[in-house]
Amino acid sequence: MSSFDLLNIEAYNPARESGYADPPARMGFFTDTSLCIGCKACEVACKEWNSVPEDGLDLTGMSFDNTQTLDANSWRHVAFIEQRKPMRFTDALAPAAPEGARTGAIPATQAGENGDFRWLMASDVCKHCTHAACLDVCPTGALFRTEFGTVVVQEDVCNGCGYCVPACPYGVIDVREGDGRAFKCTMCYDRLQGGLEPACAKACPTDSIQFGELDELRARAGERVEQLHAAGVTDARLYGEDPRDGVGGDGAFFLLLDDPEVYGLPPDPVVTTRDLAAMWRHAGAAAVGLVAATAAAFLGSRA
Ligand code: SF4
Ligand code: SF4
Ligand code: SF4
Repeated sequence: MSSFDLLNIEAYNPARESGYADPPARMGFFTDTSLCIGCKACEVACKEWNSVPEDGLDLTGMSFDNTQTLDANSWRHVAFIEQRKPMRFTDALAPAAPEGARTGAIPATQAGENGDFRWLMASDVCKHCTHAACLDVCPTGALFRTEFGTVVVQEDVCNGCGYCVPACPYGVIDVREGDGRAFKCTMCYDRLQGGLEPACAKACPTDSIQFGELDELRARAGERVEQLHAAGVTDARLYGEDPRDGVGGDGAFFLLLDDPEVYGLPPDPVVTTRDLAAMWRHAGAAAVGLVAATAAAFLGSRA
């Protein structure tokens, strides 16, 4: 069955498509940026757990964002976006805390009303796409789909060819300078196998990063958008949660408070390998036509 010819998109499980006969529920991230306070605990926890080398500070003089982008040494990137725009966000908008959850998490930067400045903060990460072009183009099998539906790169198999880098529609995966191999978020595969939540979600003090079964996260995110709209935050919208989008939906999706472009995200991402089969068919037809024309010309000249 083709990945792009699916009768039941909602129930599609990429792990089953990858050969797992009876995979567990697909796991993912819902990152609610309306709750992010920019503390960067997620970035630090990721580096700590996964032994990711330090990346230095990238100071532009234009922003408090000193990581700038996802790369081989930054598997989470907390974006700081400074905007002159009123932000109406009151304590009443804080989500109901689940039983036993951390409480008192009202983002300081989003408190207050009718200011003329706001910070948008968002912890970006690999999207663990349903149709992952990085995985499609990898010639060594270093990139693979896990039983949880996530996409992982194995550093001991990667040969550093770099094909995956331009294939990613989000510019996530990157080759590490001085090392030559490609790296990105693994959704802490080792922790998932041990029944633990990923390090970044564990460290997030406001539950901006929520980890769980993807179906549940999508339902929770829909309710959160309704809650924000009812409270007047009409710009709130989901990004990457729709299984009908150009990548079949993301395993890591977001609640944003402005257009995706404002956060440096492509507004309409499409898996870059979508048209490969058709391209090869056309190339094959062209090659056959060329051979036939050459043969006809040769035979004609001998007649
Ligand atoms: S976001 Fe990029 S690196 Fe991550 S799974 Fe999708 S294509 Fe691969
Ligand atoms: S899931 Fe793990 S590897 Fe991915 S960003 Fe979070 S801490 Fe890093
Ligand atoms: S996502 Fe959570 S841990 Fe990361 S910067 Fe925002 S509040 Fe802090």
